[in-house]
Amino acid sequence: MSTSPASTSPVSTFAALGLAANFVRAADALGYDEPTPIQAAAIPPALAGRDLLASAQTGSGKTAAFAFPLMQQIDTGIRPALRRTQALVLVPTRELAAQVGETLRQIEPFLAEPVKVSVLFGGVSINPQLMALRGGAEVVVATPGRLLDVVEHNGLKLADLDCLVLDEADRLLDGGFADEVNRVLALLPARRQNLLFSATFPEAVQALAAKLLRDPVRIEITPEPVIEAKIEEHAVEVDDARRTPLLRHMIEQGEWSRVLVFVATRYACDHVADKLRKAGIEAAAFHGDASQGARTRLLSDFKASRLRVLVATDLGARGIDIAKLPVVVNYDLPRSAVDYVHRIGRTGRAGETGLAVSFIGAQAEAHFRLIEKRQGHRVPRERIEGFEPKDVPVAVSAPLDPNGGVKGRRPSKKDKLRAAAARSGS
Ligand code: AMP
Repeated sequence: MSTSPASTSPVSTFAALGLAANFVRAADALGYDEPTPIQAAAIPPALAGRDLLASAQTGSGKTAAFAFPLMQQIDTGIRPALRRTQALVLVPTRELAAQVGETLRQIEPFLAEPVKVSVLFGGVSINPQLMALRGGAEVVVATPGRLLDVVEHNGLKLADLDCLVLDEADRLLDGGFADEVNRVLALLPARRQNLLFSATFPEAVQALAAKLLRDPVRIEITPEPVIEAKIEEHAVEVDDARRTPLLRHMIEQGEWSRVLVFVATRYACDHVADKLRKAGIEAAAFHGDASQGARTRLLSDFKASRLRVLVATDLGARGIDIAKLPVVVNYDLPRSAVDYVHRIGRTGRAGETGLAVSFIGAQAEAHFRLIEKRQGHRVPRERIEGFEPKDVPVAVSAPLDPNGGVKGRRPSKKDKLRAAAARSGS
């Protein structure tokens, strides 16, 4: 396995990375002045047909890091008379599917000949997607479940695929989609290029990478600059019962225009949103299981600043894609350090500085220490006047779930799986 040297020798133009003139124009039209580190590292080997194992966060520019080489390879390759699916991008959520599809479609007009990009995701009727696939599509972006449905309907053949991209592989496997991912892989030809992108590398991702990739170029864009330079992390000590008034206070004092608040349960989503609304702050609960129409409406209200606060669980938040979110609040801490990275990664995108605030109640101190340990850095504890905690922190020596589950809760199926993975040598 080789390691890309790009992080030590930055390349400052897209042309120097090997992109053809039409794709350099595409980058220009998209407003990309220079390649991001992940693009500098990924584009040359991807263009050369190598497999990639890339560690990259949301906001790093990873989409374009695979979108450009994938499209250029199609553009310069031999075009068969009939459309065949040459590239498949597997993603964990419908919103990421839509976002990746959009990037590919923005690049598409710059190709020498038109290419069809189809986007497939669940939660909506399959028929329009099947219709859109008539006559084939060179590039397909899909969530695994819907992709399998479409294949079952004979809507798509993947046997001649040249390139597979796994985007946000950790979330693909984490979301209980591992089975579906494996069923998709079984449909693909043995010889193909594989590009795997992931923010984190838990055992399941490493196992998949080992099975899937051939002599991959390994790219590690360290997350520290993203977290330390662009995301300001705060840890505020507060009693659990005072979190909602504190949240309200911080929203008002900080004049936060748009806030994404993470809570542990769907019940808390409704409860916190309700309390904020009663206090005159436009807030809504964002449920993962709400209808697509309702979710889209809430998101567009949030994007247009008609809604100031969205309250979501980790699962619900999978549906939230908003560039440059200014503030993320961990009202409840996430269960794991992986989720913490995903949560705070939603702020400070594309060069913007974001604010990530975690509320640390007496019960949460020990758990937050574990998250800090996994992150490799400490976040100084702060107190806000008028909200100083009275509860005594639970002794830090109290036994901790080494895999990040919240102590005192009955272990979920996922906790047990994590624990089993840890015991087997992670
Ligand atoms: P991603 O990590 O792919 O979700 O990209 C995050 C954001 O960065 C998107 O809004 C992109 O449009 C933007 N972006 C990607 N590449 C560049 C670049 N080279 N220069 C400036 N912005 C970029």
